[in-house]
Amino acid sequence: MSSTAARAADQGATEDRDRVWTVTEHLDDILGQIHPLEPIELQLLDAQGCVLVEDVTVPVALPPFDNSSMDGYAVRTADVGAATAEHPAVLTVVGDIAAGSGELPTVGPGEAARIMTGAPLPPGGQAVVPVEWTDGGLDSGPVTHMLARGADPHGGSGRVRVFRPVQDGQHVRTRGSDAGAGELALRAGTVLGAPQIGLLAAVGRATVKVRPRPRVVVLSTGSELVQPGEEAGPGRIHDSNSFQLTAAAREAGAIAYRVGAVIDDAATLRSTVEDQLVRADIVVTSGGVSVGAYDVVKEAMHDVVFRKVAMQPGKPQGFGRVGPDRIPLLALPGNPVSSYVSFELFVRPVIRTMLGGGDVHRPTERAVCPEGVASSPEGRRQFLRGWYEPAAAGRPATVTPVGGAGSHLVKALAQANALIVVPEEVTGVAPGAEVDVILLT
Ligand code: AMP
Ligand code: MG
Repeated sequence: MSSTAARAADQGATEDRDRVWTVTEHLDDILGQIHPLEPIELQLLDAQGCVLVEDVTVPVALPPFDNSSMDGYAVRTADVGAATAEHPAVLTVVGDIAAGSGELPTVGPGEAARIMTGAPLPPGGQAVVPVEWTDGGLDSGPVTHMLARGADPHGGSGRVRVFRPVQDGQHVRTRGSDAGAGELALRAGTVLGAPQIGLLAAVGRATVKVRPRPRVVVLSTGSELVQPGEEAGPGRIHDSNSFQLTAAAREAGAIAYRVGAVIDDAATLRSTVEDQLVRADIVVTSGGVSVGAYDVVKEAMHDVVFRKVAMQPGKPQGFGRVGPDRIPLLALPGNPVSSYVSFELFVRPVIRTMLGGGDVHRPTERAVCPEGVASSPEGRRQFLRGWYEPAAAGRPATVTPVGGAGSHLVKALAQANALIVVPEEVTGVAPGAEVDVILLT
């Protein structure tokens, strides 16, 4: 017996090779062997889309000092209490405070300081009069000192006319009004989107502890494959799966590396996979898993079990853990629609499980299928490409099949936004009946 045959026999001992697995059984078997990745400290932008594993508290109040929410004049409220357009309050401008100013003039009775949005409220200032409620100091003489950081804060001159009163604290963002020091900013388990990353930066964090995004290495197999941009000669086609799967992995939240096409040679495939393991948390292959003469993945990957799953498309599936670190490898069928549907059903949940937070599964909805489905294979769960329209006024959600059942129909796949699920025991859907729909966007 050859070593390959011996291993196959071995595998046969642990798994009945004729057994047909349900979609759920196969997925459960895979996810039972997948765990969230170990947390690491990442730079903020590298942590985008990741799950926070620490509670983050606010070290210093936000905002850290009272500051102006308008361009205008910091004043004492009593000085402008009676101000009107006819009888403006006329104040002496004692300085000019830009955002970032460190040194501040003191605003005494009868005085004002010109202040910019975000600049610190000066001592004595109780409120800010927006510049629109004043004459802007234009016809009351120039302000002589523009106070940049470190400039003399006390040398302003000129006057400003104020036409309206302000309340105490008006147009002032007080220290701590956003978050107090010691307050919880983000709870462990939060998925870091743009606003959360912004908050971390605002509180001064440069790095944060998260579960990293899984690294997915995508390889396609097939001696017929040519890379896009190159001419496909007779009998050859462009490698679309490696692009489709890499993009899908990124959409699922992974860091994805596209290796591209490997020829149908077991030794080449084996060594390519081995070389890639250093940068992989998951390996995804396409093609070479059915019963053809050149089913290279089946031939090369001895730690992977290949099984029949009761689904259409995507019946042949492989899963195993390879290399010294036992990296999960999912071997998907080669037909582009099969490989995409297989990714959605099996690889995406693996990525989402490793992320350790957020939804593992795509949302599903019920929808009316006005056209129905004329026939569907018995004993296999069918995933048809569909166009889903959410419920609108007076009309339920609907879904319409796009293209046929053929697993080579990439144009129809690209026009779909949902998968219509036709259960194993169902052999047809009457027009107007309800179906389950997996939403892809
Ligand atoms: P296989 O599972 O390798 O027998 O491939 C099944 C079908 O999918 C064949 O028609 C292949 O040419 C096609 N196919 C396999 N891999 C790719 C790929 N990366 N891009 C596009 N088509 C592919
Ligand atoms: Mg092939």
